[in-house]
Amino acid sequence: MSKKILLSGVKPTGRPHIGNYFGAMKQFVDLQNEYEAYVMIADYHALNLIQSKKEMEENILGVALDYLAIGLDPEKVTIFKQSDVSAHTELAWIFDTLTTMPYLMRAHAFKDAEAKNKDISVGTFNYPMLMAADILLYDADVVPVGQDQKQHIEITRDTAQKFNNTFGEVLKLPEHIILDEVAVVPGTDGQKMSKSYKNTIPLFATDDELEKAVMGIVTDSSAGIPINVYEMHKLFRSEEELKSLYREKEGKYKELKEALLTDIKAFITPLREKRAELEKDISYVTKMLEEGGLRANAVAGSKLSQIKKAIGVL
Ligand code: AMP
Repeated sequence: MSKKILLSGVKPTGRPHIGNYFGAMKQFVDLQNEYEAYVMIADYHALNLIQSKKEMEENILGVALDYLAIGLDPEKVTIFKQSDVSAHTELAWIFDTLTTMPYLMRAHAFKDAEAKNKDISVGTFNYPMLMAADILLYDADVVPVGQDQKQHIEITRDTAQKFNNTFGEVLKLPEHIILDEVAVVPGTDGQKMSKSYKNTIPLFATDDELEKAVMGIVTDSSAGIPINVYEMHKLFRSEEELKSLYREKEGKYKELKEALLTDIKAFITPLREKRAELEKDISYVTKMLEEGGLRANAVAGSKLSQIKKAIGVL
């Protein structure tokens, strides 16, 4: 029996944080044997935010290294750059013609972006259509993501349904994979961890960075335990272990932060070392992306032909 298909990705917008890892990237690794997996570097999505050649190049290479360092196996997973597969942007255009402006204006991400800055780009507005194309080109069954992407998967399903109703059954409706306990990983201030809130713990942080970030976690004593420290600690230890530790060290916030720091360091140090090792052979990484691009193009190209036939242009 053939394996079910997984597609997901990360935007190359800077260093990933442990929210990206536990919320989504870890699932790519955990599911890579069970699924036929396509994991992309979503560079055309990042272009809405990163408009510097140097930064874009560095970030793309960075995400490729991150993927390998966390344990994605390019023999099993097709790791590729979104911009290498032009079918994504072509299909996004086809979806643009089917989707209405009022429908996309209801998206949370658009509303949030607009609340911050009225001058948002057409690309930011249109982002869910490109994401729908990313997913539907591969007939993905599942898309592992964090909670903030849930609505975009719903939009993808609506778009597929609309296409199928108009042109016949061509597109497969995907399901999200969102794990409850890590759907929204909190940052050092207790809000959702996010680069834009400056409350992150970078996934490959140095010991100094870790120390600064963990010691800076905002503590609130009202619950009897430092809740922001505890919530982050849950990512690294079972609740059972934590309950006795936090009972034993009640009121000793500094010691609890130190315990968290020790656990985070034990987790991050081997990842950071593996990434440093991989950085020594960049040609291996670029070759892997080229090969991944070829594999992705073959799959996406054949799906796009099917779609173009259905709409009557091929
Ligand atoms: P991005 O870099 O925006 O493409 O995000 C990569 C993945 O990380 C997406 O699936 C997001 O939903 C997920 N993600 C980002 N921040 C968090 C968070 N604080 N908690 C859980 N998942 C997150």
